Amino acid sequence: MKTNTYLLKYGEIFLKGKNRFVFEDALVNRTIEAVQRVEGEFKVHKYLSRIYVEAQSEFDEDELVEALQSVFGITHICPVLVLEDNGFEDLKAQVVKYIADTYDDVNFTFKMLCKRARKNYPVNSQEMNCSLGEALLNAYPGLKVDVHKPDVLVRVEIRERIYVYSKTIPGPGGMPVGTAGKAMVLLSGGLDSPVAAYMIAKRGVKIEAVYFHAPPYTSERAKEKVVDLAKLVSKYTGSIKLHVINFTDIQMSIYEKCPPDELTIIMRRYMMRIAEHIALEDDCIGLVTGESIGQVASQTMQSLRCTNDVCTLPVYRPLIAFDKQDIVNIAEKINTYETSVLPYEDCCTIFVAEHPVTKPNPNVIEIHEHNLDDVIDEMFKTAIETREIINIQ
Ligand code: ATP
Ligand code: MG
Repeated sequence: MKTNTYLLKYGEIFLKGKNRFVFEDALVNRTIEAVQRVEGEFKVHKYLSRIYVEAQSEFDEDELVEALQSVFGITHICPVLVLEDNGFEDLKAQVVKYIADTYDDVNFTFKMLCKRARKNYPVNSQEMNCSLGEALLNAYPGLKVDVHKPDVLVRVEIRERIYVYSKTIPGPGGMPVGTAGKAMVLLSGGLDSPVAAYMIAKRGVKIEAVYFHAPPYTSERAKEKVVDLAKLVSKYTGSIKLHVINFTDIQMSIYEKCPPDELTIIMRRYMMRIAEHIALEDDCIGLVTGESIGQVASQTMQSLRCTNDVCTLPVYRPLIAFDKQDIVNIAEKINTYETSVLPYEDCCTIFVAEHPVTKPNPNVIEIHEHNLDDVIDEMFKTAIETREIINIQ
């Protein structure tokens, strides 16, 4: 059966008490944005704690479902048959027909779950369960009732109109983007940070991103790769304001004036400082990185402490306890893997020391940073003033 209406269910949002409406409205808005990417006309509306997507024209079902599966907050996507109320006998006939239209092989156990939300309907829920169940048993010899673990749960909801459905497609879960504040993601061209961006957005966080670019040591292609990654991630996160910072001068100064084994750590600290500065300018209330304990020298607990030291905003690290393979699995699922592994140079790898410190001492790092005192303020200011802003839709 190809339907033109989908019922969207949402889970955790229900837990939010009086704020529920804020969450529901955000979910409706995110759904509207998602279906705008699908060819065809769709109406999205909320009705009594339910969200419906109704196609007003021809459309491709897979394309629509894929778009809905990118909307955080949706837990289930149910294709529904919508009927006008033409009396209970008509409903019975329609439910029988629905089963034949929906299943090629009508050989399974089932349970009826009817709900009379509109109380003036003449048949109550329990009577409907019995009567519709019986009609199905009479129509299909391959059906059997199992009230405990049915293969198929056939739902009928009597509202203004009548909704019949039995299939549920999993949604992505999480919370609608925009319900949890805004954070600045340090987005590199690697595997990890796009996944971190996806994961933080899944909890309802709106994101902006910052990329540190070091021309001519890093190429225009490396920057385009980050833009491409931001586009891929924006399918889930919505639009992203991407700040591209020219980091070359700062990086060169660190290279010239600081001990080689501390290069990466000091560089990471300046990235965090700049990220925090632009985060605060744009009302972001947290920073996000793709770090994971022990993955590289700059991500030991000691190194993370040194990087963290320079920020006052909370730094969220959604991948902190993830193994590389877990991260790869998500990157594949969200379609960033192929782009992330393209071999363009990254500013961290170009200047990396042969033997970077793995247990940096914050006091020592701070002392060595003073080597930059006469140039850093000006460079910091220039880096921020000359940044390029790219709006990813
Ligand atoms: P990723 O795969 O995200 O690049 P990584 O394993 O390469 O991570 P690092 O290079 O140590 O790890 O970077 C750690 C984190 O610092 C990244 O996840 C990212 O959040 C941030 N970061 C690193 N380089 C950059 C950059 N050039 N621009 C913006 N953020 C960066
Ligand atoms: Mg990297």
